[in-house]
Amino acid sequence: MNVPEMFGSMVFNDHVMREMLPKKVYQSLKNTMVEGKALDEDAADIVATAMKEWAVSKGATHFTHWFQPMTGITAEKHDSFLTVDKNGCVIMDFSGKELIKGEPDASSFPSGGLRATFEARGYTAWDPTSYAFIKDDTLCIPTAFCSYTGQILDKKTPLLRSMDAISHEAVRALRLFGKEAKRVNATIGAEQEYFLIDKEDFAKRLDLKLTGRTLLGAPAAKGQEMEDHYFGSIRPRVKAFMADLDEELWKLGITAKTEHNEVAPCQHEMAPIFDNANKATDANQLTMEIMKKVAERHGFACLLHEKPFEGINGSGKHNNWALSTDDGENLLDPGRTPKDNAQFLLFLTAIIKAVDDYQDLLRISVASAGNDHRLGANEAPPAIVSIFVGDELDSVISSIIDGRPLDRSTSASRLDIGTSVLPKLARDNSDRNRTSPFAFTGNKFEFRMPGSSFNIACTNVMLNTAVADALKAFCDELEGADDFNASLNTLIRRELKAHRRILFNGNGYSREWEEEAERRGLANYRRTPDALIHYCDEKNVALFIRHRIYTREEMESRLEISLDEYRKAIHIEAAAMLEMLRRQILPASLRFSSSLASSIRLKEEIGVSANADKALCAKVSALADALLLKADELDERLGKSPEGTQDAAFFAADEIVPAMEEARKISDSLEAVTDKSFWPIPTYSDILFYV
Ligand code: ADP
Ligand code: MG
Repeated sequence: MNVPEMFGSMVFNDHVMREMLPKKVYQSLKNTMVEGKALDEDAADIVATAMKEWAVSKGATHFTHWFQPMTGITAEKHDSFLTVDKNGCVIMDFSGKELIKGEPDASSFPSGGLRATFEARGYTAWDPTSYAFIKDDTLCIPTAFCSYTGQILDKKTPLLRSMDAISHEAVRALRLFGKEAKRVNATIGAEQEYFLIDKEDFAKRLDLKLTGRTLLGAPAAKGQEMEDHYFGSIRPRVKAFMADLDEELWKLGITAKTEHNEVAPCQHEMAPIFDNANKATDANQLTMEIMKKVAERHGFACLLHEKPFEGINGSGKHNNWALSTDDGENLLDPGRTPKDNAQFLLFLTAIIKAVDDYQDLLRISVASAGNDHRLGANEAPPAIVSIFVGDELDSVISSIIDGRPLDRSTSASRLDIGTSVLPKLARDNSDRNRTSPFAFTGNKFEFRMPGSSFNIACTNVMLNTAVADALKAFCDELEGADDFNASLNTLIRRELKAHRRILFNGNGYSREWEEEAERRGLANYRRTPDALIHYCDEKNVALFIRHRIYTREEMESRLEISLDEYRKAIHIEAAAMLEMLRRQILPASLRFSSSLASSIRLKEEIGVSANADKALCAKVSALADALLLKADELDERLGKSPEGTQDAAFFAADEIVPAMEEARKISDSLEAVTDKSFWPIPTYSDILFYV
């Protein structure tokens, strides 16, 4: 296999553009990509023609504007290149206008009240900063999605805006250190966790098919306690899947780099090489789609849900985040010289301030019904946002705050930012804290709260904007300073002191941390609606308006959509559970108990002991009685869901989720005592330990 040749072969990338476009057009497209300058219509026509020719030469017949509506998945509406010319001949055509703008019927996408249903028109606008690619014989053009009146209806537009905001402020901050950068990009490496299970087991479970997770299921005799799966040798079937996945991703220019087993049985991870936030987000959306597709081919179902199985780890998506100049300087690399160190400390301080001030937004960006099973469940980060910086950096921060010398053998001098050198920080230290939601890992931060099925755009909008805001405040203060070094020292010390509470190096899973965090005044929003209702808090609205990311209306609509999405997810789970309980689990238990009852009668007729049959029959019958009542209760509660999105979301969390948990407990107890040949669905041992 010739990887370099295959890599990106389905992408209209820089290499293809340079080859196929006239120099001038190529240059103006490049300007558009790097500096966000608009592309004129003539150039767009030329680009469109080149794109079409390239796509047709690769066998494509259709094109689509590929976008990311608020549903979190990607959407596409296919049109063929086919046109009839004025002589009645069929030709393959694609114009600049079609490239730049599309008008899908937008009425079925969630808009949270922004667009009345009768105003169906929405439009998609080409995002030239992410490459077009071919998937399933279709030229996919990454686009942003807006309502006809210009309100944003997607996840890409705010991400692009937040990238501009952080670039603008970071460029200003660099200027303070005498550096001229054109652009600073947020860089993202999204590690993707997933489960692979046998397609046949998947097909036999309504819960997996409808909700992506098992709503019922007693634990298997073996879970992950032996820790033998993590980095363990990979099943040949899975290995074949991974090789195929790599190939498909490489063709699409996605830099799949690492594939390995994860902690839970059947759990795996794929990590790409990082890229700018926009391209990394598009790549991750595509990765999830391709994973599912490739899994099918190998007889698997790929589960991206945050908690497919109770009792073993769920899946997350680690969002590695850093800042990089157009020259490739990583601003989160502490550097070697005092000046670099001072610059690093300014950015670090901005991030610490941002995460503290907007911890609620970060928590909100990862809130979903699925992720509620993960956050705070002793396996993933807690629902409390805090930052891990490691011991070395922590002692640097302490010495700055306390104004005392940094205790180290090489230099006992007082750590004056900008005048002395930071100790060399270990990168990739193996004992780094895995329980922290937001951890510094040497030259980047790793945000570990996002759920495996999430679109990472939202998290990065929050992160970029919050950090941009902190940098803005710092630049406003430092730009006018008489003595830059002195002012910088004062600012860093003051801000670190003010936001020290967000730093935590200990065990994030412990009960003590929850109490400690409460004392520190950190937010602990356990469930999705608890977090979501803070989205439109005045300080958050002000932040997004200040950086021109969202209008108040757009935020209100997003809140509405998210609350509603949560309610719907819970209701679908409850309905699926009810159907399984009433039409599969209960009938199976009744069949089992009646077979026991018959055997009791037969045995008594011939005078043989039926004690075991009786005991078991009584147990199964009692559990079935209880389960029937619980199912009815759940059904009744479902019918009582109040009007109003927020009330309904809280009702789901307060009333439906607990009722489901109770019903599940009974069903799982039933499973544990029921003859396997009667049990109507594959069990955890069947699913997790397939061969
Ligand atoms: P692990 O966390 O599994 O030890 P790494 O730390 O090497 O692995 O990388 C994890 C992810 O972080 C990868 O996707 C990698 O590309 C990404 N990454 C590395 N450097 C940066 C950076 N400067 N910005 C964003 N992501 C990065
Ligand atoms: Mg990692």
